[in-house]
Amino acid sequence: MSPKRMHIPQASRARQVMQEEKNTPQKPGVYVHTFGCQMNVHDSQKILTLMSEKGYQAVETPEEASVILLNTCSVREKPEQKVLSAVGRYRNLKQNTPDLIIGVGGCFARQEGEDLLRRAPALDLVFGPDNIPELPKMIQNIREEHQPQVETEFDPSNDVRFLDIAPQVLDSRVTAMVTIMKGCDKYCSFCIVPYVRGRERYRDPVEIKEEVQRLSAQGIREIMLLGQSVTSYKWKDRGEVWDLARLIRSLDGVEGLDRLRFTSPYPRDFHQELIDCFAEVPILCDHVHLPFQSGSDRILYRMNRRHTREQYFGWVNGLRERCPSIAITADVIVGFPGEEEQDFEETMDLIERVRFDALFSFKYSPRPKTPAARKVQQISEEDKQRRLAYLQQRQLEISLEINKKFEGTEQLILVEGRSRRNPERLAGRTTTNKVVNFVGPEHLVGEMINIRIIEAHATALVGEGQ
Ligand code: SF4
Repeated sequence: MSPKRMHIPQASRARQVMQEEKNTPQKPGVYVHTFGCQMNVHDSQKILTLMSEKGYQAVETPEEASVILLNTCSVREKPEQKVLSAVGRYRNLKQNTPDLIIGVGGCFARQEGEDLLRRAPALDLVFGPDNIPELPKMIQNIREEHQPQVETEFDPSNDVRFLDIAPQVLDSRVTAMVTIMKGCDKYCSFCIVPYVRGRERYRDPVEIKEEVQRLSAQGIREIMLLGQSVTSYKWKDRGEVWDLARLIRSLDGVEGLDRLRFTSPYPRDFHQELIDCFAEVPILCDHVHLPFQSGSDRILYRMNRRHTREQYFGWVNGLRERCPSIAITADVIVGFPGEEEQDFEETMDLIERVRFDALFSFKYSPRPKTPAARKVQQISEEDKQRRLAYLQQRQLEISLEINKKFEGTEQLILVEGRSRRNPERLAGRTTTNKVVNFVGPEHLVGEMINIRIIEAHATALVGEGQ
């Protein structure tokens, strides 16, 4: 990767196509409302791609749509209220657009199934995360038969097709996501993913590379390899065995590609070959997201995480030995059933010892079907809230201390676009995944530039404009 490889990327062909489609008024509109994680954002891009192949165009407001799809998530939080109140808002649009189809898809749809039609009579369609390939056909059936459609069961014959759908509708002209695997076999006791996303399935490395090459030829500079348990990636073909480390190495050198990241990993999969990639593969960014969930061995065992805190320190030390500048972020849950003050103190101790660049912290909330939801020692809401507030405050201090060290330094960033918080500014990221906001001209979007950091905050840096 070289800062000399600077160019202003052409807007991707996909974006041009969608723009042209937006200017063609007779096409029916599809509006997708996405809840949740990056996997869901990526699924929504695939939904828009499939729908555009069937003659629909993406629209930016629900009022313009003849199909409204809510792509839901039930992994982190209780989505019921959010989803049902969104359906309630969209229901009113049916008065002006009687043919309007409203559908709910994703993990929450898979979890609730047909029952959703009873709870939200305005719904026409319920589809699971593995039924996206069937979506155009289901919408056609609704139009022809005037009957609601429900498909939430996993159909393996659709899956291969699903993994192969390369989204043509991208949210950015600089960065893109590429699915390399789906599902999860780990069965952490708090997590609903294995129940709603199914067993692990992997994608052919040849197809992955082709998609990465296609995206980088369109001007994409950074790729995020995606999977629910992405580090478990494996593929066997003609006597050859692939894992994530080999896949990463195979993508180094793709013309025009400057940066590669992956998410979400499972700590036990951090074997030496993968750790070595952070030191040896130039395009792999100096950032790893390494969820630890708890610092207490007692709670880790109850979570079925299959690792101890000492093992976790071993992975962190191994990564820092091979790549001293690496930034480490993680997920942590407080208030898991049976978590006592001593367990929480061990979590805080782990945080103090590792000193994460940032943490995604959550209060435990029971997910249906999961073993942890059946545990009797549920923690009071008050205790969960107190522990979370304490942890988040301390983490903000640590993040700020770490970020302060960037003040006065020069950082190479990939400029991704306008800042979400302040559209007057541009935003880019360092290889360590730190957001840098700065004032600069639009033509820098898509370029790798060196920028001087003048101010550090806990969640972002401010750079000196060019
Ligand atoms: S590894 Fe991640 S996705 Fe899989 S069960 Fe555990 S928390 Fe859920």
